[in-house]
Amino acid sequence: MNICFEGKRILVTGAGQGIGRDLALRLAKYKGKVFALSKRLEFLKTLKNEDSTIEIISVDLVDWNTTRTAIEKILPIDMLVNNAGVACLGPFLKLSEKQFDLTMNVNVKAIFNISQIISGDMIERKIHGSIVNVSSQASVAALKDHSIYCASKGAVDMLTKSMALELGVYNIRVNSVNPTVVMTAMGRLGWDDPKKSQSMLDKIPLGRFAEVDEVVDAIVYLLSDRSSMITGVALPVDGGFLAT
Ligand code: NAP
Repeated sequence: MNICFEGKRILVTGAGQGIGRDLALRLAKYKGKVFALSKRLEFLKTLKNEDSTIEIISVDLVDWNTTRTAIEKILPIDMLVNNAGVACLGPFLKLSEKQFDLTMNVNVKAIFNISQIISGDMIERKIHGSIVNVSSQASVAALKDHSIYCASKGAVDMLTKSMALELGVYNIRVNSVNPTVVMTAMGRLGWDDPKKSQSMLDKIPLGRFAEVDEVVDAIVYLLSDRSSMITGVALPVDGGFLAT
């Protein structure tokens, strides 16, 4: 695929580490003007050191108003990747209200908040925008000790479809990518234990977890005009896990 995002202003959330960080670097390589947002400034600073063309924004997405102000400052945005996420894991009977609220605030409510501002501006400017939400295989399949996370990703898929339905008329496409396990900091949290990871690997027809680059490729495709007739889909990047 020949991809060039020259002239495009692209916001990536959760860009301090993991999938979002590699995505930000890739989009900058494709000549996009990248805005990398996440919570911890120290990670963002190392990203800036790696590619000085990337603008960094340190915001706690749990804070609705601070997030809105930060996003309004960087408008216009042509492409948006809602990638930031948290995973609070544990038995259903032990998880707390605090963990529930944090997960829903970061994984779901922040997507609603940011996308509302950015798509509103896209509509005013009459541009063909593209939004990609990073969901998970956990939106469809229940995973042990992942009840809040699964619920949040189920909400991400439905929000994605609802946004696609209402924003399609303005030529704004909205899709999600739904990866299996990727060995980032978050992936290690749930799957470092070889016993647990083997039981998951046994359910993946391709017999391995996803590489960060494989998730980035899917996001780039959905952002780009190469997917110009695709909206409202949840694209598994899961080695066939959801096919079984
Ligand atoms: P990660 O390495 O833990 O990175 C998560 C990013 O989100 C970090 O940059 C983090 O900021 C940011 N973030 C978290 N809470 C935030 C907040 N309150 N405000 C601002 N930024 C916040 O995770 P990852 O594996 O790359 O995950 C990226 C996305 O992929 C998530 O939506 C996740 O649910 C999804 N996903 C991951 C896997 C997996 O196995 N890894 C599988 C399926 C889907 P800091 O840098 O400041 O910590």
